[in-house]
Amino acid sequence: MKKSRSVLSVTGEENFINNFKNVIHRSYTSGATLGAELRRGRTRRLSPSLQVPCWLRPRDRTRSPDILSNMSRPTTLPLRIPPRISITQADTDSNEAENGVSPAHTPLGSQSPSRTLNTSLPQGQRRESFLYRSDSDYDMSPKAVSRNSSLASEGHTAEDFIVTPFAQVLASLRSVRSNFTILANVSTPLVKRSPLGGVCVSPRGTLSDQQYQQLALDTLEELDWCLDQLETIQTHRSVSEMASNKFKRMLNRELSHLSEMSRSGNQVSEYISSTFLDKQNEVEIPSPTLKDKPMSHISGVRKLSHSSSLSSASMPRFGVNTDHEDELAKELEDLNKWSFNIFKVAEFSNNRPLSCIMYAIFQERELLKTFRIPVDTFVTYVMTLEDHYHGNVAYHNSLHAADVAQSTHVLLSTPALDAVFTDLEILAALFAAAIHDVDHPGVSNQFLINTNSELALMYNDESVLENHHLAVGFKLLHLENCDIFQNLTKRQRQSLRKLVIDMVLATDMSKHMTLLADLKTMVETKKVTSSGVLLLDHYTERIQQVLKNMVHCADLSNPTKPLPLYRQWTERIMEEFFRQGDKERERGMEISAMCDKHTASVEKSQVGFIDYIVHPLWETWADLVHPDAQEILDTLEENRDWYLNTMPQSPSPPPDRHLQHDRFQFELTLEE
Ligand SMILES: [Zn+2]
Repeated sequence: MKKSRSVLSVTGEENFINNFKNVIHRSYTSGATLGAELRRGRTRRLSPSLQVPCWLRPRDRTRSPDILSNMSRPTTLPLRIPPRISITQADTDSNEAENGVSPAHTPLGSQSPSRTLNTSLPQGQRRESFLYRSDSDYDMSPKAVSRNSSLASEGHTAEDFIVTPFAQVLASLRSVRSNFTILANVSTPLVKRSPLGGVCVSPRGTLSDQQYQQLALDTLEELDWCLDQLETIQTHRSVSEMASNKFKRMLNRELSHLSEMSRSGNQVSEYISSTFLDKQNEVEIPSPTLKDKPMSHISGVRKLSHSSSLSSASMPRFGVNTDHEDELAKELEDLNKWSFNIFKVAEFSNNRPLSCIMYAIFQERELLKTFRIPVDTFVTYVMTLEDHYHGNVAYHNSLHAADVAQSTHVLLSTPALDAVFTDLEILAALFAAAIHDVDHPGVSNQFLINTNSELALMYNDESVLENHHLAVGFKLLHLENCDIFQNLTKRQRQSLRKLVIDMVLATDMSKHMTLLADLKTMVETKKVTSSGVLLLDHYTERIQQVLKNMVHCADLSNPTKPLPLYRQWTERIMEEFFRQGDKERERGMEISAMCDKHTASVEKSQVGFIDYIVHPLWETWADLVHPDAQEILDTLEENRDWYLNTMPQSPSPPPDRHLQHDRFQFELTLEE
């Protein structure tokens, strides 16, 4: 069977070369941005009109295997206007079942010749995350490293910069190619490689001899740099690893500065690094005690029957029994909105937010019809699933699952991704969101490992909870009248299962940086290859990557929601952390970061969480779906500022403070 292959075509809309001029000009006038590079002695002065590679690099390019780690490269991408990105099916004879398109629905291949990721004109400036700082900024003193020190003030936007190593190589090669056309004085033939689509660029005649020499040297240097990078890529590390290693290194440096600043800064830094970086466990683990009971079954699965009370005929309007049907109906009108209030749904649905929201979403998307899921089976399953979330766990209960499912539902409908996903992929994403924390005990993976729990033994300390959530979520399908996938083909079931496993495992927060690095590499590679068409040999893989990140984004979406909702989530997560801290105290264990109710700084942890985790992630997502997520980024920024201003011991800010003020205050507060 032929694999579905797709092409991603990108059409540059502005003259590539003309942009060089702007970029060059900015490169040489924005001392702060490229300061680290200039300090290394690279002070070429070139006429702004000269068409040369658009970034500066250190001179010493030793061919060391670790070159990527040591060499920083604040890259200015000469594409001011984001290209239009289309994902096009290359093979229209891809197998339907494989893509999970039900016969009732049009297969993607014939639906339209292209699955288009629309990206339109650039928006206003925005704050960039630490990922956009020069990788070599870190040798500056901690004080000089302000989170806003990066590019916004220089008139750059994230659009201009490429930060993932692989995309940097692609961008570099494009500039070499472009220079070559000038040096060799050839007009570019109309090929898809050309960013200009055959436009003849500035002929060599317009350059002075000196300029020509300089361009030749620069181009050679650019090409050498690429060769170095490619050598490293092939012999050393994968593309994905390069990006995630770079990001982890940058985050580590950020956190070490943060932790040096104050005790609570230290705690926030500790929490972020222990939760979101895949670190080797440094805690001494007691030797495992063997239990008599073999682990022949999945713990946590209980037999509950909802079937008897349900039939298609007597199905309540929203799948759950409630005396507040009208109020519930009113809340559910906002089902497709990011500002949806899941807390209200819990209130009006007899505390069955997950069952209710899943029912509403599946009705809205007609998934019951598409996959021929009997309605009573569906309701039996989601009620059983909901019962396997722990009502006495403060945060990771069915309300959180319902929230992640609804957020995923909204993200799936983002206009930029319109028609990108098959019905099966949509079904998988929603199912993954619904089960992704089922039977969560309210303590972290590390706690389970440190206490030598049965679950940690079962899963060999690797993504312990996430593996368990999956096992329970799938196992529940086996209970009476619970198999909602009974009418899927074998192939559909297989690919759904694979997708769901991928997505739920990706909610392990220690995988965050890898996930983010992959997404960013993908987004930037698309930007850079706007020359024409990028063949996606592993199209399905790309889609999976987007889906994994989508559920991860939904899982980390609390700070992007309206403040009153966000604050309730924060209260809940802190309560759960503190309860774990209490358990650790009782057992005489070291109390985990942010889990000590006597010392934790809630506000500061939220600001750190946003700055180092949530913002970089959503910023990248926003690039992927530009401009759809702009409002989400705005809310995130407002919420961050609210927590910043609510930090205890900080002077209350004047009502109309500016960014500058904000930054000052942040540093002040961190120093305490
Ligand atoms: Zn979760």
